[in-house]
Amino acid sequence: MKKIIIATKNKGKVKEFRSFFAPYDIEVVSLLDLDEEVPDIEETGDSFVENAAIKAEQISNLFQQPVLADDSGLVIDSLDGRPGIYSARYAGEPTDDQANMDKVLKEMQDIPEEERGARFVCVLAIAHPGEEPMFVTGYCEGRIQTEQSGENGFGYDPIFVPAGYKKTMAELDPIEKNQISHRKKAMKQLENKIHLL
Ligand code: IMP
Repeated sequence: MKKIIIATKNKGKVKEFRSFFAPYDIEVVSLLDLDEEVPDIEETGDSFVENAAIKAEQISNLFQQPVLADDSGLVIDSLDGRPGIYSARYAGEPTDDQANMDKVLKEMQDIPEEERGARFVCVLAIAHPGEEPMFVTGYCEGRIQTEQSGENGFGYDPIFVPAGYKKTMAELDPIEKNQISHRKKAMKQLENKIHLL
């Protein structure tokens, strides 16, 4: 059976990837399952692609196994693409979802409805030891509300309204969110590349 290491300690993501790979007979091992301590990897890239590649390549070379790494975030048109790769720590360290949303809402307080377009982006990088990684990207288009609403999800979900919806991501049922999410769309792209694993 083929094996792939998922470069995350996030249990929710591990579960999603495990169920994605199950029909293909590919065993998923996460950083939580490994006995060895994995050093923190600095995301020094300028893009989602570069950051996903850095994580996938470094861990793949360390363990000499295929590795899948993801990088995601929120891209807002009227903020020139911010928070982008800085989504997790937009309002500074340590990560604070509420402070991040407050900062975005403040920066966008004078932006009219028709200019509030945004999208979640998810890049998956798959690296084999010593080889160039391959990438897939998924997007979830939407817009930023003027105030937050909803309790589900995480990150910027309470201020993001997906295209075609009147509710924020945080007001959607988690199953519904997973069907339209940027991560799910990236995984769909990956279906076409499974034979390359
Ligand atoms: P990561 O790549 O999963 O660590 O995500 C980076 C940051 O992007 C998170 O800390 C969130 O702020 C934001 N983000 C990524 N995906 C989502 C999502 O599905 N909903 C809300 N925020 C997200």
